[in-house]
Amino acid sequence: MHEFSFAYNIFKIAEATALKYNANKISQVYLEIGELTLIVPELLKRSFEMATKGSIAEGAELKIEILPGKIKCRDCSKVSTVTLSEESYLTGLQLFQCRHCQSKNTEIIEGKKANVKNIKIQE
Ligand SMILES: [Zn+2]
Repeated sequence: MHEFSFAYNIFKIAEATALKYNANKISQVYLEIGELTLIVPELLKRSFEMATKGSIAEGAELKIEILPGKIKCRDCSKVSTVTLSEESYLTGLQLFQCRHCQSKNTEIIEGKKANVKNIKIQE
């Protein structure tokens, strides 16, 4: 379950930002998560609650925006948008096919990252 360590990292980033602005409370955290990270938003929200207990981010609302994954074909150089099948959730396998030439010789160029986009603080 990598949601917990991920939630903890988000908390650390939000906390550092809040401290920089002398905030006493974090009320909202906006996140962008690539679909191919396999992060489950519901689990992440629960992990975030646990990770922030007793901190200045306790009770902060976690807003999550899922960004679609993108692959680039090594054969035809075109970019395709991909979504994860239920199967890849189960197996962890991520093999994507080019939408243009059906090649499986592709690389992931977007969707594997997650970042804190914004936080809302109270002074
Ligand atoms: Zn292709």
